[in-house]
Amino acid sequence: MPCLGATHLVATHLVATHLVATHLVATHLVATHLVATHLVATHLVVTHEEAMRLALAQAVAAGDRGEIPVGAVVLDPLGEVLSAAGNDRESAADPTAHAEVLALRRAAAQRGEWRLTGCTLVVTLEPCTMCAGAAVLARVERIVYGATDEKGGAVGSLWDVVRDRRLNHRPEVVMGVMVEECGAALKRFFAPRRIR
Ligand SMILES: [Zn+2]
Repeated sequence: MPCLGATHLVATHLVATHLVATHLVATHLVATHLVATHLVATHLVVTHEEAMRLALAQAVAAGDRGEIPVGAVVLDPLGEVLSAAGNDRESAADPTAHAEVLALRRAAAQRGEWRLTGCTLVVTLEPCTMCAGAAVLARVERIVYGATDEKGGAVGSLWDVVRDRRLNHRPEVVMGVMVEECGAALKRFFAPRRIR
Protein backbone atom coordinates (compact mmCIF):
# COMPACT_ATOMS: atom_id res chain seq x y z
CA MET A 1 0.00 0.00 0.00
CA PRO A 2 2.19 2.82 -1.30
CA CYS A 3 -0.12 5.52 -0.02
CA LEU A 4 0.12 4.37 3.54
CA GLY A 5 3.85 3.95 3.11
CA ALA A 6 4.16 7.53 1.93
CA THR A 7 2.01 8.76 4.78
CA HIS A 8 4.16 6.81 7.15
CA LEU A 9 7.29 8.32 5.66
CA VAL A 10 5.88 11.82 5.94
CA ALA A 11 4.89 11.12 9.54
CA THR A 12 8.35 9.74 10.26
CA HIS A 13 9.88 12.79 8.66
CA LEU A 14 7.71 15.05 10.81
CA VAL A 15 8.72 13.15 13.94
CA ALA A 16 12.36 13.36 12.85
CA THR A 17 12.03 17.10 12.23
CA HIS A 18 10.41 17.50 15.60
CA LEU A 19 13.19 15.52 17.24
CA VAL A 20 15.85 17.62 15.55
CA ALA A 21 14.04 20.76 16.69
CA THR A 22 13.70 19.37 20.22
CA HIS A 23 17.36 18.43 20.19
CA LEU A 24 18.31 21.95 19.12
CA VAL A 25 16.23 23.41 21.94
CA ALA A 26 17.82 20.94 24.36
CA THR A 27 21.30 21.78 23.09
CA HIS A 28 20.56 25.47 23.44
CA LEU A 29 19.34 24.95 26.98
CA VAL A 30 22.37 22.90 27.90
CA ALA A 31 24.54 25.64 26.42
CA THR A 32 22.63 28.29 28.37
CA HIS A 33 22.95 26.22 31.53
CA LEU A 34 26.68 25.88 30.93
CA VAL A 35 26.90 29.64 30.47
CA ALA A 36 25.01 30.10 33.76
CA THR A 37 27.36 27.71 35.55
CA HIS A 38 30.33 29.40 33.92
CA LEU A 39 29.12 32.85 34.97
CA VAL A 40 28.63 31.74 38.57
CA ALA A 41 32.16 30.30 38.52
CA THR A 42 33.85 33.27 36.89
CA HIS A 43 31.93 36.11 38.54
CA LEU A 44 31.25 38.10 35.41
CA VAL A 45 29.25 41.30 35.69
CA VAL A 46 25.87 40.95 33.95
CA THR A 47 22.97 43.27 33.19
CA HIS A 48 19.45 42.67 34.57
CA GLU A 49 18.44 41.22 31.22
CA GLU A 50 21.43 38.89 31.06
CA ALA A 51 20.72 37.80 34.61
CA MET A 52 17.09 37.18 33.62
CA ARG A 53 18.27 34.94 30.78
CA LEU A 54 20.18 32.88 33.32
CA ALA A 55 17.12 32.77 35.57
CA LEU A 56 15.04 31.66 32.56
CA ALA A 57 17.48 28.82 31.84
CA GLN A 58 17.03 27.72 35.46
CA ALA A 59 13.26 27.97 35.06
CA VAL A 60 13.22 25.81 31.91
CA ALA A 61 15.54 23.25 33.53
CA ALA A 62 13.15 23.12 36.50
CA GLY A 63 10.23 22.58 34.11
CA ASP A 64 12.11 19.66 32.54
CA ARG A 65 12.29 18.10 36.03
CA GLY A 66 8.51 18.44 36.37
CA GLU A 67 8.68 21.55 38.55
CA ILE A 68 6.70 24.72 37.86
CA PRO A 69 9.28 26.60 35.77
CA VAL A 70 10.53 29.45 37.92
CA GLY A 71 14.19 30.44 38.12
CA ALA A 72 16.16 32.96 40.17
CA VAL A 73 19.61 34.51 40.22
CA VAL A 74 21.29 36.67 42.86
CA LEU A 75 23.74 39.38 41.79
CA ASP A 76 26.25 40.90 44.18
CA PRO A 77 26.55 44.71 44.57
CA LEU A 78 28.84 44.88 41.52
CA GLY A 79 26.41 42.92 39.37
CA GLU A 80 28.36 39.68 39.46
CA VAL A 81 26.41 36.41 39.57
CA LEU A 82 26.49 35.01 43.10
CA SER A 83 24.02 32.17 42.73
CA ALA A 84 21.34 30.65 40.53
CA ALA A 85 18.52 28.21 41.30
CA GLY A 86 15.36 26.73 39.88
CA ASN A 87 12.19 25.76 41.68
CA ASP A 88 12.82 22.40 43.38
CA ARG A 89 9.66 21.87 45.42
CA GLU A 90 8.68 18.48 43.95
CA SER A 91 12.16 16.91 43.85
CA ALA A 92 13.06 18.11 47.34
CA ALA A 93 9.56 17.46 48.71
CA ASP A 94 9.96 20.85 50.35
CA PRO A 95 7.21 23.50 50.31
CA THR A 96 9.84 26.23 50.83
CA ALA A 97 12.13 25.13 47.97
CA HIS A 98 11.12 28.01 45.70
CA ALA A 99 13.79 29.28 43.29
CA GLU A 100 14.17 32.59 45.16
CA VAL A 101 14.68 30.98 48.57
CA LEU A 102 17.24 28.54 47.14
CA ALA A 103 19.09 31.31 45.28
CA LEU A 104 19.11 33.55 48.38
CA ARG A 105 20.42 30.70 50.54
CA ARG A 106 23.18 29.88 48.03
CA ALA A 107 24.15 33.54 47.71
CA ALA A 108 24.36 33.90 51.49
CA ALA A 109 26.44 30.72 51.72
CA GLN A 110 28.70 32.06 48.98
CA ARG A 111 29.25 35.30 50.86
CA GLY A 112 29.42 33.65 54.27
CA GLU A 113 26.79 35.94 55.78
CA TRP A 114 23.02 36.10 55.81
CA ARG A 115 22.84 39.79 54.90
CA LEU A 116 22.74 40.30 51.16
CA THR A 117 23.08 44.07 51.41
CA GLY A 118 23.47 45.70 48.02
CA CYS A 119 22.51 42.48 46.19
CA THR A 120 19.84 42.03 43.53
CA LEU A 121 17.37 39.15 43.34
CA VAL A 122 16.40 38.44 39.73
CA VAL A 123 13.45 36.07 39.24
CA THR A 124 11.31 35.03 36.29
CA LEU A 125 7.99 35.29 38.17
CA GLU A 126 6.75 37.81 40.72
CA PRO A 127 7.68 36.39 44.16
CA CYS A 128 5.07 34.91 46.53
CA THR A 129 4.63 36.13 50.11
CA MET A 130 7.30 33.73 51.43
CA CYS A 131 9.92 34.71 48.85
CA ALA A 132 9.15 38.42 49.06
CA GLY A 133 9.50 38.11 52.85
CA ALA A 134 12.78 36.22 52.46
CA ALA A 135 14.14 38.93 50.14
CA VAL A 136 13.28 41.62 52.71
CA LEU A 137 14.85 39.56 55.51
CA ALA A 138 17.98 39.07 53.38
CA ARG A 139 18.12 42.89 52.98
CA VAL A 140 18.49 42.69 49.21
CA GLU A 141 18.67 46.11 47.61
CA ARG A 142 16.61 45.28 44.56
CA ILE A 143 14.11 42.74 43.25
CA VAL A 144 13.90 42.34 39.47
CA TYR A 145 11.14 40.14 38.12
CA GLY A 146 9.67 39.13 34.76
CA ALA A 147 6.08 37.92 34.67
CA THR A 148 3.49 39.16 37.17
CA ASP A 149 1.54 36.64 39.25
CA GLU A 150 -1.95 38.04 39.50
CA LYS A 151 -3.12 35.11 41.64
CA GLY A 152 -0.38 35.04 44.24
CA GLY A 153 2.18 37.79 43.62
CA ALA A 154 3.40 39.63 46.69
CA VAL A 155 5.46 42.34 44.97
CA GLY A 156 2.66 44.53 43.71
CA SER A 157 -0.08 42.23 42.37
CA LEU A 158 -2.03 40.70 45.23
CA TRP A 159 0.07 42.15 48.04
CA ASP A 160 3.10 44.42 48.24
CA VAL A 161 5.17 42.80 50.95
CA VAL A 162 8.43 44.53 49.98
CA ARG A 163 7.32 48.17 49.80
CA ASP A 164 5.13 48.34 52.90
CA ARG A 165 5.98 51.70 54.50
CA ARG A 166 5.92 50.10 57.95
CA LEU A 167 9.05 48.13 57.06
CA ASN A 168 12.52 49.48 57.84
CA HIS A 169 14.01 47.88 54.76
CA ARG A 170 12.22 48.25 51.43
CA PRO A 171 13.95 46.84 48.35
CA GLU A 172 13.65 48.68 45.07
CA VAL A 173 11.45 46.84 42.53
CA VAL A 174 12.03 46.51 38.78
CA MET A 175 9.24 44.58 37.08
CA GLY A 176 8.53 43.35 33.57
CA VAL A 177 12.10 42.43 32.55
CA MET A 178 11.75 39.98 29.63
CA VAL A 179 8.12 39.63 30.65
CA GLU A 180 7.07 37.81 27.47
CA GLU A 181 9.79 35.16 27.60
CA CYS A 182 9.17 34.58 31.32
CA GLY A 183 5.40 34.24 30.80
CA ALA A 184 5.91 31.99 27.77
CA ALA A 185 7.99 29.51 29.82
CA LEU A 186 5.08 29.14 32.24
CA LYS A 187 2.48 28.92 29.48
CA ARG A 188 4.49 26.24 27.64
CA PHE A 189 4.63 24.25 30.87
CA PHE A 190 0.96 24.48 31.68
CA ALA A 191 -0.50 24.22 28.15
CA PRO A 192 -0.16 20.41 27.65
CA ARG A 193 -1.46 19.85 31.17
CA ARG A 194 -4.67 21.75 30.41
CA ILE A 195 -5.36 19.63 27.33
CA ARG A 196 -5.16 16.34 29.25
ZN1 LIG B 1 7.94 31.83 46.46
